[in-house]
Amino acid sequence: MTVRTFRSTATTPLDRGREFGIAHASQIAATVDAYRRIFETQAGGAVDLAHWGGLALDRIAVVSAALAEEVQGIAEGADLPVTSIAAINARTEILAAVGASGAHECSTVVHLGEGSPVAVQAWDWYGALADSWLVWEIPHADGHVTTTLTEYGIVGKIGVSTRGLGLLFNILHHDQDGTGIGAPVHVLARAVLDEAADLNQALLRLSTAAVSASSSLTLIAAVGGESAAVSVECNPGGVGYVLPDDSGLLLHTNHFLSTPAALHDVELRTGPDTVMRYDTLRRRLTGPTIPSITRVLTAMNSHLLGGGALCCHADPTLPATGQFETLATVVLDVAGGTLSAHAGGPCTHPLTTTPHEETRMLKLKRIDNMDILTKDVQTLVDFYHGTLGLPFHLPYEPDEEWAAIDFGNLTLYVFKSEVGEHAPRRTAVNPDNAPGLDSFAFEVDDLDEAEAYLDGKVEWVDQRIEWKHPSGTWYRYRPFFDPDGNMLYITEPHPTDA
Ligand SMILES: [Zn+2]
Repeated sequence: MTVRTFRSTATTPLDRGREFGIAHASQIAATVDAYRRIFETQAGGAVDLAHWGGLALDRIAVVSAALAEEVQGIAEGADLPVTSIAAINARTEILAAVGASGAHECSTVVHLGEGSPVAVQAWDWYGALADSWLVWEIPHADGHVTTTLTEYGIVGKIGVSTRGLGLLFNILHHDQDGTGIGAPVHVLARAVLDEAADLNQALLRLSTAAVSASSSLTLIAAVGGESAAVSVECNPGGVGYVLPDDSGLLLHTNHFLSTPAALHDVELRTGPDTVMRYDTLRRRLTGPTIPSITRVLTAMNSHLLGGGALCCHADPTLPATGQFETLATVVLDVAGGTLSAHAGGPCTHPLTTTPHEETRMLKLKRIDNMDILTKDVQTLVDFYHGTLGLPFHLPYEPDEEWAAIDFGNLTLYVFKSEVGEHAPRRTAVNPDNAPGLDSFAFEVDDLDEAEAYLDGKVEWVDQRIEWKHPSGTWYRYRPFFDPDGNMLYITEPHPTDA
């Protein structure tokens, strides 16, 4: 499924709202209808949208006068009551107020390291709303741009601004949620992205908000080569902060990680999968390998918890109110100020690799060293260091009978052995040789010159040999023995692209 994207041209709130409302009237109406049904199912009876929408409109205006105007514009453009638009902008608060139960998922991963932060979220929500979202690009009069993944008619959610600020979103549940309608968290998210010039302004925006529906808003800042991230756990009891661990990894699922809010967590009873999703991410992303976007997406590719998994698919065995899906997988480029959304879960994301064990995938970089065992370390040192003129990689330890010799792009370690016999000498004719390591070859610029230099100093194995590959690449080379009888070559390679 392609991701729908809309770029506003109007830069004043009312006109921007109208333009959006006109362009998406049917989708906005469908989203309002879908939420009306969800509210009523969760409430177990009729829900007065005009009543809740009226309360929501007041709270939206407190958060941001500009966004209240934009909501008005969307309503006008879509030809719907402004209370309907205000109600869906406060859908999280209304769900809390009507006592909605059941788990609501979402999994967030941020990693701060060298370069731009990695910031990824799986957005899990009601499957009925799978077609109700888009990516909205919002240029502002001063030139900066907010890009948000949001639902039709809701002013914002997950997003990024070209001021080097990103925001990821996880719903939380606190035992004091649902008293009236507080600051709508979706409107707060958009206000932060539109208005905050830096991380400090964003933090102040969130720390002073009075919410009625708990949410973790993870802020990521990346400006001038510096980066930072923090999850702000907004809740009716106050605000808590979660910081990245020592490796720069910051994870959030749907339970409080800060106290005292964690003592009031409802999700631990209604959606304990949040604890296991957190643990799976932690285990898969902790370790020496830097969590790249691919690695994060692959870590999120888990179906272990069924309908409560990191990559969440509707579970037909659960009641309809418990059927959630990963509707989108979102990757923020905070430094670049852009957002990329994939319609669906991590398991179908093009950057995800399978199997899940990719997180433990071997990533060999290059040959670092090789070892030769010998009964006479000094003789080999005289040969490699003296005759061939190769430098030591580490100071020679004659008393300890080992040496590390710099082969240019790898280190040869020579160690003492006092058991058995050396393997038989090999020849340059492969079919004549027993299996096992055969030889190693040193590149030279001029075979004639190298051959002339070594003549009389080494024991040649064979005459000069020339070999051509059909691609055009060819080599000429000559094998010789070291004093122990290990076979080496000098070779003059001629790759086709040279
Ligand atoms: Zn999946």
